Amino acid sequence: MLELKNLTVRYGKHLAVDGVSFSVTKGEAVVVLGANGAGKSSILKAVAGTVALSDGSVVLGGETLTGIPAHKVTNHGIALVPEGRGVIGRMTVEENLRLGATPQRARASEDDTMAQVFEIFPRLKERRSQFVHTMSGGEQQMVAVGRAMMSKPDYLLLDEPSLGLAPIVVGDMFKALARVRETGVGLLIVEQNVRISLRHADRGYLLEAGRITGSGTSEELMNDAAVRQAFLGGD
Ligand code: ATP
Repeated sequence: MLELKNLTVRYGKHLAVDGVSFSVTKGEAVVVLGANGAGKSSILKAVAGTVALSDGSVVLGGETLTGIPAHKVTNHGIALVPEGRGVIGRMTVEENLRLGATPQRARASEDDTMAQVFEIFPRLKERRSQFVHTMSGGEQQMVAVGRAMMSKPDYLLLDEPSLGLAPIVVGDMFKALARVRETGVGLLIVEQNVRISLRHADRGYLLEAGRITGSGTSEELMNDAAVRQAFLGGD
């Protein structure tokens, strides 16, 4: 289980994440919904070790990860797909994917994992020698998710995987994520795209100004008056 306990992030005097606690189990998809600036990215960065916690802890399988640098967090089985993807445009698809296989836990099975990535994203197999900067936004997002899968994570953290993609591409991406999840990986997704993320998640949390103000199953949240008002135009 991946547990966030009283997670608190400050940037100087600004309290971006204010005592957030919840957990994700393997094979489960959990979404955190929130508007711009609510603190969604900061939660993922804190779990991935790319920003420091001001308070609280991240516990993975009973082991406290707090204070472990980002590259070591990956060794423990947590991979972040950052907003903006973080892929390397001047490298090919295959080179980008292989970069993801650096943790010890991933090296021995690198080729098998790549075959699994290609099964979930056949487009990447077709384009394995193509430079990533020549690809569409949706294809680059596939590379980003594929590269994270190459580290053999138990938990995948996804920062707005739908951002900037056409609706049909978003649908395909979430279907692919469902397949990743079927392999037993736990997904923690932060999103502004409420409809599609709830359709593909088991549970969700509502984040406002760094605090959790609501939670429930996807169905409960979809029917929640506050969620509908804030995100679905009150319809
Ligand atoms: P978005 O959807 O716009 O990315 P978010 O919900 O992911 O928003 P965060 O990026 O976590 O929100 O930011 C939360 C708050 O912290 C915002 O007010 C933001 O301006 C602030 N913030 C984020 N990163 C930093 C930083 N490095 N230094 C100072 N303030 C920051």
